[in-house]
Amino acid sequence: MSSTTALKPPDLVHTDLYIDGKWVQAEGGRRFETENPYTGKVWASIADAGASDVDLAVKAARAALEGPWSEMTGGQRARLMNKLADILERDADRIAMIETYDNGKLIRDARWQVGLMAEWFRYFAGAADKIDGTVMQDANPEFFVYTRREPIGVVAAILPWNAPLLLMTWKLAPAMAAGCTFIAKPSEFTPSSALALAECFAEAGFPAGVFNVLPSSSRDVPAALTQHEGVNKVAFTGSTATGVKAAQSAIAHLARVTLELGGKSPQLVFEDADMEAATNGLLRGIFSATGQICHAGSRAFVQRPIYDAILAKVVARANTLKLGDPRLPETELGPIATAAQFEKVKEMLARAKADGALAACGGGPDESLGGYFIRPTVLTNVKPGDYIMREEVFGPVLCIMPFDTEEEGVALANDTRYGLASGLWTSDVRRVHRVAKRIRAGTVWVNAYRGVSPSVPFGGFGASGMGRESGLEAINDYTERKAIWVEMTGQTKDPFKL
Ligand code: NAD
Repeated sequence: MSSTTALKPPDLVHTDLYIDGKWVQAEGGRRFETENPYTGKVWASIADAGASDVDLAVKAARAALEGPWSEMTGGQRARLMNKLADILERDADRIAMIETYDNGKLIRDARWQVGLMAEWFRYFAGAADKIDGTVMQDANPEFFVYTRREPIGVVAAILPWNAPLLLMTWKLAPAMAAGCTFIAKPSEFTPSSALALAECFAEAGFPAGVFNVLPSSSRDVPAALTQHEGVNKVAFTGSTATGVKAAQSAIAHLARVTLELGGKSPQLVFEDADMEAATNGLLRGIFSATGQICHAGSRAFVQRPIYDAILAKVVARANTLKLGDPRLPETELGPIATAAQFEKVKEMLARAKADGALAACGGGPDESLGGYFIRPTVLTNVKPGDYIMREEVFGPVLCIMPFDTEEEGVALANDTRYGLASGLWTSDVRRVHRVAKRIRAGTVWVNAYRGVSPSVPFGGFGASGMGRESGLEAINDYTERKAIWVEMTGQTKDPFKL
């Protein structure tokens, strides 16, 4: 820790709720504390929203939706979004450091993600003045018929702790472009950066109530938000189990829903793959962000002729990964983000070992560092039916097993209820297209892993979610289509005939 003592925590300027363009205390003045997972010590005290704050936020978002925000053109919204992107770039170091204190994310990753946020806002700003309806010129000669795409309304975004701001931006940027208003409920473990983002919204000049932030330690608050009749859309990222609950609450009052959920993503390495690139891709897939990414490549299937060599290379590199202070640029693996998640990873490792898995490296916590560190782990001797092969760990744990034929490799990759992402490593271009088509996942990276872009849809098959984020079409998930029929003949019609 000696070289880190000079590193000071970033200033948290605002720690109250952000509702209707104002910083307000939570109901009853309640607050809660969040800890820095690197030290395991409290670093922030944040206002703790309750049920009445949910009502206030929904009212504010509704008033903004029907007020000044609805009067703005797409071009005016775009200008605000571009200004927000400028502010994010200017303040990126501070905002990234807040993420690092909140969830232990490496500073270099956090800094990269804040840069991506600016890209996402600029991309969707470019779309804000291009949201068009259609004229149905041949619908009926007696009518002039056209459609409009209108904002879906008040959006409640329920967010996880692993990439709090970037994952919010995937919802927020298309929602702002579409003219919706927004209530962010950050994870109870990582509420601070959403408040820093609210400061940027205020400075950019968005009308009051367009963007609201409701941190809360209570899981009743996101539940109340998803149940609230004043919410028109629930955009959820988190675990599959909680996502199903959120969707059920939303559907009960017919709010629209998109879900970005968990994964157990496969990486298929064929014998003709570039060994160095594939090794790097397996490491990138599972050890970046300490494995706490929804699309972590947590199951590796390697064709038998190169299995031993790939395993040896992955283990050799895993053993040299530099664990430590996420604020330092040389650190490669930070802590697990929460105490509960740390316990979950340890339990899953214990169960995997009981099921017969062998740790080729790692296999448990690194106690020398304090904090919630798990050593980078590669498990062999695993079987497709094992719990560790079926359930998401959300930690630096790679399961690896050999396969023989392409047919078998594809079957193993698809043997999951999830379907978020996948990696395919081969130098055979025919195989690329054959296998990419057969893998059931929302993303297939070929000879690569973990690329994202605002113009590319991201989301999952099966238990990994519903709907897609990013890509121009994401705006459709924040608009409703309205058909307008204008009678042109002026004649009275038979009332009993359609
Ligand atoms: P979580 O499901 O525990 O919590 C997510 C959010 O839901 C939190 O803000 C929480 O307060 C809220 N919540 C709790 N109870 C709720 C309820 N009854 N109704 C509505 N909301 C409720 O998930 P987490 O532990 O924060 O995040 C980790 C999970 O997120 C992993 O499973 C991971 O795969 C998934 N994830 C998915 C993606 C993706 O894009 N597919 C991205 C990141 C994380």
